[in-house]
Amino acid sequence: MNMSPKHHERFGISSDTIVHARGVSKSFGALQVLKSVDLDVPSGKVACIIGPSGSGKSTFLRCINHLEKIDSGLLLVDGDLVGYQLRDDKLYELPPSAICRKRAEIGMVFQQFNLFPHMTVLENIIEAPVHVRREPVKEATERALQLLSKVGLAEKRSAYPRHLSGGQQQRVAIARALAMNPKVILFDEPTSALDPELVGDVLEVMKTLARDGMTMVVVTHEMGFAAEVADQVIFMDGGVVVEAGKPSEVLSNPSSARTREFLSRVL
Ligand code: ADP
Ligand code: MG
Repeated sequence: MNMSPKHHERFGISSDTIVHARGVSKSFGALQVLKSVDLDVPSGKVACIIGPSGSGKSTFLRCINHLEKIDSGLLLVDGDLVGYQLRDDKLYELPPSAICRKRAEIGMVFQQFNLFPHMTVLENIIEAPVHVRREPVKEATERALQLLSKVGLAEKRSAYPRHLSGGQQQRVAIARALAMNPKVILFDEPTSALDPELVGDVLEVMKTLARDGMTMVVVTHEMGFAAEVADQVIFMDGGVVVEAGKPSEVLSNPSSARTREFLSRVL
């Protein structure tokens, strides 16, 4: 496998930085959705992104995962370039094969679970390890069963997604992300589609991952989770990072009136 050189040193970034964004901007037509966004997520840390609907949170996660191309700025994941602006205004981009390889190192968990409906729980989890990573089925299955135990669903290995509750589907989606041994998992409002009584189990699994040292970027409206688990909270509004810091700063003692106004609506 082509091990391209890492770019931490070149950009003066600590080698344990998993996500590094500087001045990341993105427009859809005339609409500028991200306006010079900065973020650093060290290995093993949890960043929670909060903010009103339409503030660019999902778009930012999609940029980190190469699902959207950035227009300008610098974006590195584990020292590999997602994109950056050169002085001559050309944007450096990874070739498609490298993007595929890179995306396989980044887990993504969506609001709507996005499990493959025609596959069992076990088949969902081993799909990428077997077909993308070429792992033997036996090994991938053993590991999948361990991961299912970890998310409390060992007995559901043969079930189809439609027979699971939303909370169970989301825990399968987390196990599926973990099966690729990702460098980071991006969560986009993972509990927003769930009935309230199912939210707790999913958050418990996410807390366990955080305690185990998984690097996570979590877009969420669960302020209790952010307060307890996040190493840093980022408040975005209108495509801008308005405020970022420890939960005790941003959630308990925000310096910006916009953050205070948002928190007064969601808390
Ligand atoms: P959030 O996740 O914070 O609710 P999004 O990143 O989904 O915000 O969206 C930010 C803005 O970008 C919204 O105004 C949305 O309508 C717009 N947007 C998102 N994706 C696209 C797209 N593919 N094409 C055009 N506009 C988009
Ligand atoms: Mg969103």
